Amino acid sequence: MGVNPLKKICHWGPLTALGIIKVITLMTIHCSRQCWPPQESLFGAINFTLFFCLSGSTLFHFISSIYEGPGFLPLKWMPNRATDTQFLQYCFVCEGYKAPRTHHCRKCGRCVMKMDHHCPWINNCVGHYNHGHFTAFLASGVGGCSVSTFTLVSWVMTVLSLKPLSFPPPSVFILILVIVSIGLSIGVVLAVGTLLYFQLLAIIRNRTEIEAWITEKAHYRRFGTKDKFIYPYSKGWRFNVQHVLTWDCTPVGDGINWPVIDGCDQYTLTLEQLAQKKDKRKRAKTYRIIEDVSGSRLPFRHGWGVFCHPPCTDEPRIKLKVGDIVIVTRWRKYWLFGERKEDDQNEKHMRNKGWFPRPCAIEVIENDAYSFPSTTSD
Ligand SMILES: [Zn+2]
Ligand SMILES: [Zn+2]
Repeated sequence: MGVNPLKKICHWGPLTALGIIKVITLMTIHCSRQCWPPQESLFGAINFTLFFCLSGSTLFHFISSIYEGPGFLPLKWMPNRATDTQFLQYCFVCEGYKAPRTHHCRKCGRCVMKMDHHCPWINNCVGHYNHGHFTAFLASGVGGCSVSTFTLVSWVMTVLSLKPLSFPPPSVFILILVIVSIGLSIGVVLAVGTLLYFQLLAIIRNRTEIEAWITEKAHYRRFGTKDKFIYPYSKGWRFNVQHVLTWDCTPVGDGINWPVIDGCDQYTLTLEQLAQKKDKRKRAKTYRIIEDVSGSRLPFRHGWGVFCHPPCTDEPRIKLKVGDIVIVTRWRKYWLFGERKEDDQNEKHMRNKGWFPRPCAIEVIENDAYSFPSTTSD
């Protein structure tokens, strides 16, 4: 994809992940060779080989997840039939339509095919093309760390038992490194294991984290009506799994056209997304800024309530000045989420969306609205 290979990896996420993989791998090999020398016992040989394969597989799928990438929709993408644009959302950053299952990632700055989530550990999105590699990375990591935990704990118990050791006694430094590695291994098994569980569920249901959220809202919108929302992409668990978890981790399909169940079409989900967006716009309220907003994540000028209750999300905070008009779509007790209304329609429609402290704004009551010529167009 023409990314600079170093740039992708030189980020705290991949560097920390690589550091953790390296410490655990080195300590496990060290302890495994001391406890059960592979050339002397069959158990040692099996343990060593198993760990070696899992560790190698973890590293391979980790690097593949980064460099394979999720698959980005071409900039200025258009559906084959121009009339189909009415069923799709438009991305103002990529200046193109969003294909079904595509979402724009702010961190990657591009529209991502079948976007699941942006993973800081791989400094990339998880999407159509790297979903298999990412899942294999999680599975090998959990497997490898289970073997590590077993090996390292056995080594510590051997060292701490009062029996004579078959290897030279370890230095305090090594002992500390092994204890740290045990902590890291157990942490990986628990945290990555949980993530793996949810990824497998997502693959079996052929429904990403984002799509699960859209489906939930779709059911909520229809609550109490006869109309039922049918999620279009799940064609049975076997079919779903075979489309993502192939032997070489290359997914089936082009990431744009998707097989759907009977009674649905390519645009079932995108039409639902458009309807949800329309609902959201209907609920939106206009606010006027009465106090400058710095855009800081932890502003201390607007009282303790604002400072102590920041929204728990990495969505942006916006900078505003007195007199700005904001269209608010989400409300918290101390914070509001909205989009700033531009006075002049810039030739390039840059969107300015985010959270800001609630005390800095007052709601503009309908009758007041005429003094602000309506300029929003979505
Ligand atoms: Zn985009
Ligand atoms: Zn991303």
